[in-house]
Amino acid sequence: MSTAATPVTVTVTGAAGQIAYSLLFRIAAGDAFGDRPVAFRLLEIPDARRAAEGVAMELSDSAFPLVDSITVTDDPDEGFAGADAVFLVGAKPRGKGEERSDLLIGNGKIFGPQGQAIARNASPDVRVLVVGNPANTNAAILDAHAGLAAGQVTAMTRLDHNRALAQLAEKLGTSTTRLTNMTVWGNHSSTQFPDVAELRLDGEPVAGSLEQTWVDEDFIPRVAQRGGEIIEVRGSSSAASAASSAVDHMHDWFNGTPQGDWVSVALRSDGSYGIPEGLFASFPCRSVDGRWEIVQGLELDERQQERIRTTADELASELDTVREAGML
Ligand code: NDP
Repeated sequence: MSTAATPVTVTVTGAAGQIAYSLLFRIAAGDAFGDRPVAFRLLEIPDARRAAEGVAMELSDSAFPLVDSITVTDDPDEGFAGADAVFLVGAKPRGKGEERSDLLIGNGKIFGPQGQAIARNASPDVRVLVVGNPANTNAAILDAHAGLAAGQVTAMTRLDHNRALAQLAEKLGTSTTRLTNMTVWGNHSSTQFPDVAELRLDGEPVAGSLEQTWVDEDFIPRVAQRGGEIIEVRGSSSAASAASSAVDHMHDWFNGTPQGDWVSVALRSDGSYGIPEGLFASFPCRSVDGRWEIVQGLELDERQQERIRTTADELASELDTVREAGML
């Protein structure tokens, strides 16, 4: 059988949710895995399983040529069986009156067992993307239970990366396709650091033409708070753009990043750029031979280092919370 005809087994959790409602159709159209057929495994909690079956009916009705099969289940072992790529979208939303620590621990109860189910059932070289929030720490918990190699479990900061490119393209009066070498550091939260220091326009450095006050007072807060802005204007959270960025992330992981460019990916730190080992932080990454590599050798000034410390400190405190709850 030719490689093009071998289906890629793709698990999506939270398959009845808003993000999945866009994500599944983009994957089925070939946007993530090119011309490879897709064997879908849609995993939901028992209460949402029937709704996921409805989504599967629509997916089937769309008659996508690349859809090989669709399995809907609420059993994690069945959901992750043979998975080559996993999108972990389902997560517990923050309940009324809940603290962030409740959210971290509530999600730990989901992501720990999912890590174990991935270890038991998925392909040994599975590639995992955590979208459900708090994504970085959910990924750290999952990673601790899945026993996979460094870099096989990632969390999504690609939406922050894409939001940054969109803001910069507007500011510079250009298109996102001409901009490269953008980096989002740290946590997918309000402490994230969208960093333009290495930004290039048509391959030429362009950071010098952006006023520092615009970067600090407009750009960084706008990117970090864009999710809230969407909720205010649209009336519900960003779902299609989150799905689109998840597709971009997996596409680049399987197909490589363009020569000379990089993207933002949260993965287990190896200590690069002073971010303590073990934290799941966003770095500038290149996809080489199907593996993420953290771009090395970037020079950081004191201002950049300070912002990176702030977001890394938040990640460390999130990890302390779940460690104290016995989830690692
Ligand atoms: P969405 O599909 O809108 O969001 C799912 C997760 O993605 C949330 O944690 C959300 O975080 C996160 N997210 C990340 N980036 C974004 C972004 N830019 N915009 C919005 N969300 C983002 O949630 P729904 O409630 O519609 O659907 C969730 C589904 O997950 C439900 O069907 C539920 O049954 C299921 N679920 C499945 C589980 C499983 O398979 N084991 C476990 C738990 C839930 P935030 O909350 O911060 O917006």
